[in-house]
Amino acid sequence: MIRLDRVSKRYPDGTVAVQELTLEVGRGELVVLVGPSGCGKTTTMKMVNRLVEPTGGRIVVDGVDVTDADPVALRRGIGYVIQNVGLFPHRTIEENIAVVPELVGWPRKRRHERARELMELVGLDPAVHGKRYPHELSGGQRQRVGVARALAVDPPVLLMDEPFSAVDPVVRSQLQDEFLRLQDDVRKTILFVTHDIEEAVRLGDRIAVFKQGGRLEQFDTPAAILGA
Ligand code: ADP
Ligand code: ADP
Repeated sequence: MIRLDRVSKRYPDGTVAVQELTLEVGRGELVVLVGPSGCGKTTTMKMVNRLVEPTGGRIVVDGVDVTDADPVALRRGIGYVIQNVGLFPHRTIEENIAVVPELVGWPRKRRHERARELMELVGLDPAVHGKRYPHELSGGQRQRVGVARALAVDPPVLLMDEPFSAVDPVVRSQLQDEFLRLQDDVRKTILFVTHDIEEAVRLGDRIAVFKQGGRLEQFDTPAAILGA
């Protein structure tokens, strides 16, 4: 579903962030990218939705070479969740979740129904949270909104960059549990970045271990990596 074939990224200042990276994520698979800060995880993610252009290699998402894809169409099929999700402060939670459906022209009633369904899916109460504004939610609840928003138009692929890292350990663990249940239902193809090896082992179907210099050290199941 996602294939990276000898992908490299050298930034204009000469920093080599990713080197000859080859990996694939199967349909419905959750692959975690793990490794120390600065080893190229975020750059790798951003090359998949073309926020960053590779300087070498090839990336194919659902049979389409991303360098040939229209970026807007590409991103419509790729949900993106980051560490501190940026919500629109003057829009309600329901409106924030429905941003992309609104952009693509869904009628109001359909947006409303989809937002309510998604709130339930991520453990928010539509009657309570739907009409609130972002500052009226906790950090963990805002991350849930981020996940709901990313799922709004049902993209087959999700990119998640440290989505649960900014919340305290108890909430993080709860979000991980809920996310695993959610993934059982929705079965998205997911690239998930974390620097937390425990999180990687808990969530990943497979784990790609990066090392300094943007190289892949290991790519295997959690059991194989722990046993290695
Ligand atoms: P990680 O997500 O693993 O922390 P990043 O992909 O953010 O790593 O960064 C990989 C390397 O690329 C780091 O050395 C970082 O400083 C560098 N880097 C990231 N973005 C840029 C940029 N826009 N320009 C130059 N160097 C960058
Ligand atoms: P800028 O260079 O102005 O920061 P970006 O292209 O980096 O613009 O993205 C702007 C915002 O859009 C970012 O906050 C980012 O999180 C969000 N964004 C970027 N790509 C996607 C995507 N594929 N899906 C959802 N949100 C995205």
